[in-house]
Amino acid sequence: MAAAAVALTIMHIPLVSRIPWERVNWTTSIFLAVINTLAITAVPLYLWHYGLDWFQFGLFLFFYIATGLSITLGYHRLFSHLSFKAKKPVKMATLLFGACAFENSALDWCSDHRKHHKHVDHDDDPYDISKGFMWAHIGWLLFKLGPEMPMDNVNDLKRDPLVMWQHKWCIPLAFILGFGVPALLGFLWNGAAGALGGFLLAGVFRVFAVQHSTFFINSLCHTVGSQPYSARCSARDSAVMALFTFGEGYHNYHHEFQHDYRNGVKRTNFDPTKWTIWTLEKCGLVSDLRRVPDEKILLAEMNEARRRAALKTGHDESIAAVFGQQMHDMFHQLSERLAANYAALEKATTEKVEISRHMIENWRRETREFTALLSDLERRLPAAA
Ligand SMILES: [Zn+2]
Ligand SMILES: [Zn+2]
Repeated sequence: MAAAAVALTIMHIPLVSRIPWERVNWTTSIFLAVINTLAITAVPLYLWHYGLDWFQFGLFLFFYIATGLSITLGYHRLFSHLSFKAKKPVKMATLLFGACAFENSALDWCSDHRKHHKHVDHDDDPYDISKGFMWAHIGWLLFKLGPEMPMDNVNDLKRDPLVMWQHKWCIPLAFILGFGVPALLGFLWNGAAGALGGFLLAGVFRVFAVQHSTFFINSLCHTVGSQPYSARCSARDSAVMALFTFGEGYHNYHHEFQHDYRNGVKRTNFDPTKWTIWTLEKCGLVSDLRRVPDEKILLAEMNEARRRAALKTGHDESIAAVFGQQMHDMFHQLSERLAANYAALEKATTEKVEISRHMIENWRRETREFTALLSDLERRLPAAA
């Protein structure tokens, strides 16, 4: 009776009463609540009490990298986008460690992700950012909005026996390999305290870190950063996000060219997933890496710059007033040059005429100089943007 009364009182707290309880996905919500609570309470307490030895740190690092890469390299670039072909050992490893991230089976994950690309920023996008930052980050996992959508977009994966095997055994695999093995290794290292450390650090805290890194791709990578390739959808490029997401932070490029095995397409981009795929190719474990040709990428960059420049035409007086006549003239000069370069590159690609590397480099440099100027204009003339 007392418990029922307490529950009734809690339900009447304004914030709590606004939660659509009938839509809560209880299994996922309870799991996420436990992981997040342990990660911010039990993990610091353990570290305070026992400290961090090299074994526990190494175990955490191994599981963090193995699980994180299995999501980005396996679940994402291999299974969702088929951006390269992989031999069985790579498939098996990414399916096993991918399960340990507790982000569902590869089949479920890929189905959601393909829907995300197809319907990005719209209702049928499972992690639609237009429903809010928290919805895209974690809300979509805690609540079910409508009936389950059919998984009719992963028929290719349903024909893969390894994928189907992982789909069937995903939960036991996740618990045994994701929590049981780190606890066992910790026990062998340092008895009961070691087992607790293995469970909390390489288990709980690692799941917490990998999950939020994936969630950030759906939330922050659709909120902060630049859009050099297209502003058709909310996806953005962020070098900072790439640091926390095994290179997935170049999300604007990825949404524009989803079948490229690279997300950080520039040589200097931090993309450990791309480097791992490249290395596995050299070892003969993966093949058929898909790369979008440089000309096509440059065309997208030029097109986006043209779109942004077009928004500024008709604001000549403001440009001259804020930046001076010289800058105004430069804007027009660069704008015309971009239009000419774009037309020349488009013609060459349509007619399949080979363009020299030097030419591409020049056009790319000019485009980037112009986009830097455009960013400056947009910052200082927001009303004209
Ligand atoms: Zn996205
Ligand atoms: Zn994707």
